[in-house]
Parts: sequence; C-alpha cells; structure tokens
Amino acid sequence: MPNLLQEASKIEPEIIEIRRKIHSEPELSFKEYKTAKLVAKKLRELGMQVKTRVGGNGVLGTLVGEKNGKVIALRADMDALPVTEDVDLTFKSRNHGVMHACGHDTHVAMLLGAATLLSKHKSDLHGTVKFLFQPAEEDGETGGAKPMIEAGVMNNPKVDYVFGLHIGGEYPSGTFGIRPGPFMATPDGFEIKVIGKGGHGSRPHETIDPIFVSVQLINALQAISSRMINPTKPFVISICSIHSGTTDNVIPDEAVMMGTMRTLDEKTRSTAMKYFKRITKDVCETFGAKYVLDFVKDPYPITYNDEKVTKRVTEVLRTIKGTKTREIDQKLGAEDFARFLQKAPGTFYYIGTRNEKKGCIYPNHSSKFKVDESVLKFGATSLAKLALEFGKE
Ligand SMILES: [Zn+2]
Ligand SMILES: [Zn+2]
Repeated sequence: MPNLLQEASKIEPEIIEIRRKIHSEPELSFKEYKTAKLVAKKLRELGMQVKTRVGGNGVLGTLVGEKNGKVIALRADMDALPVTEDVDLTFKSRNHGVMHACGHDTHVAMLLGAATLLSKHKSDLHGTVKFLFQPAEEDGETGGAKPMIEAGVMNNPKVDYVFGLHIGGEYPSGTFGIRPGPFMATPDGFEIKVIGKGGHGSRPHETIDPIFVSVQLINALQAISSRMINPTKPFVISICSIHSGTTDNVIPDEAVMMGTMRTLDEKTRSTAMKYFKRITKDVCETFGAKYVLDFVKDPYPITYNDEKVTKRVTEVLRTIKGTKTREIDQKLGAEDFARFLQKAPGTFYYIGTRNEKKGCIYPNHSSKFKVDESVLKFGATSLAKLALEFGKE
C-alpha cells in the first residue's frame, strides 16, 4: 500500500489553493456553474473520463484501475449558503450574501485531492472509482443527488460501495467521526396556514383569531415529543417561522407557520405524522378555524450507514497517522447523501475542524464558520484509501 498521507502532504498546498478559490466564489444551490467548471477541468487534467451537466450542475469523473475489482463512488457536494460571511480572510467570499458556511468548498478540494492521489496509482487500483460532484445539497427537497441518480451515475458500471465525507465544526480538528446504522434524520418540513376570521382588536368575540389558534397549536404539537412517541427515540419538532397580522388593533384573517419535524426511523416518523395531522385538525376545529397543511413532498431519507461497511471504514480510517477516529452521536440534521446510500451500501462520515488556537470554533452554517485547513490532507487521504481498500474486495 502506498503512503498516501505522505503524498497528500506533498499536494496539500494545491488542495488548499483549490479550496480557497472555491471559497472566494461561492455559488448557491442549482447555480454551481463555476465550481462545476473548475472540477471538470481538474478531472480532465488528471486524464479522467468526465461528464458534465449530470442531473443539473453535477459532474461525474471516472477512473478505471488496472486491476479487476469493485466499483467505488466517492461524493462531494458543491453548493454554498445564503449567508453573509463574517470572517476576515484573504480569500473571503466575493459573492456578497453567499458563503461556503457548510464547508462544501473543502469537500470539493478534498475529493479533487483524492482524485489526484488515485490517478497516480492506477496500477495499484482495483476496479473503478466514480467521482460524484453533486449540486444543491442544501436544497433539502429535490436536491442534487436524486437527479444525478436518475441520470444513471450509480449504474453502468453499477456502484458497489459509496462514501461521502463532511467537514464538521463541532468535532476536534483531525478527528474522524463515524457512526454505523441510522446516522442522520429525514427532515419533514411543513407549512400550516391557519385560516380564521379577522376583525377589530377590541371585539375578539366576533372573530376567529388565527394568532390565538396558532399559539395553541404550537404548544399542542410539542406534546408529540413529550407525550406521544417513545421517549427513547430521537425526535424533534420545531416551528421556525410564524407570520401574521399588520398592526396593533386588527385581528388578522390568517397566520402561516413553517417548521420541521425530524426522525431517525420510519415507525417513529409515521406515528409522529399521524399525531401531527390529528392535533392540527382538532385544535383548529376546536376554535372554529380552518387550515391548510402541507408537507415537503419528497424529503431526504434517513442517512443509513451500512454496519458491516462502516466497521471496515473505521478500521481503514484508524490507519491514518495524525488522526483519531471515534464513534459520534446520531444527528437530526439531514443529508442528500442518504439517497446515494439507498442505491449502494456505504458510509457517510465526518472530519472535525474545531481548533480553538486557530479560532475555528463556530459551527457549520454560522456566518463565522472557519475551517482548520490542516485537516484537508487527512480527508483527501481517507477518501483515496477507502477507494483502494474497498476496490480490492
Ligand atoms: Zn449544510
Ligand atoms: Zn453540508
């Protein structure tokens, strides 16, 4: 086995340079034009077969090893967030109001790093590696994985194992975080419109006050988590937006709320869904209001890490010098990568970037999110190693 970490250390400046370039020109979901172009150019320079515009702005690179083996897919997401960057960097976002606050810039750089390493080891490589650069991970609904899968990236040749790596502000720098089984949630986003009857603020008895009804509903919905589902199951329901009314003496006609409900298993999900619908109906009816309830149609599924594969991934990660690997808690965040895991067994894992000395202390999605770039070589090494190891099997 070649010393991949040593080789990754040699190309570290290049990995960091790519990351900084993408960081300075972040692009929102479905608009990853420049990023996709940069990715395709780099993959072509490495001598790979490259397909662009795969399910939107997706890019697929294929590297065929000289030995027979399995088909491995490695994935990075490319999109940024509508956040105004509040970090002083020489390579700060030049696209005002858009920021790589989830670190997807580092994912692209690490995967291109892995592609560079693997393209130098075609003679050691068993099987085929597919590099999936996906758009629109932050979309939360349609996303970018689904259209890429529909475009056929998991077939011809059929992918045997798929791996994805995320950078995480909550884990210590240089620590891999991994978890077998159900790892991340399915996010059931919803909107509830409570339809009442407006009137004068001094004569509430002649109205059906949608704000009052909404408040009862918000409280009642929290009973799902505290009274209605098994308390040993991870679950959260949050109302994240509420809009109604215009002034201090008019009871409005309507109130609109948006929120998210997250679960890690289908049974809890369907139970919670049943109670959610019942409570909404009953509370609104009790106070004479009507309502319209909409759920996001096709949310990301539960991110499920295959137990056997993940155990082996853990063993591979443990061989990377200078890093630690530990089992982490389940998360109620959601990941578009879950859709790839529905097509092939694999693992979604994290690399930590929290480093107090370097001021990297803010979480992903924060306007102050800052990455400890010294971990990028570890991430690139891990992806390349997984491809080499699992290709052999
Ligand atoms: Zn994110
Ligand atoms: Zn992310």
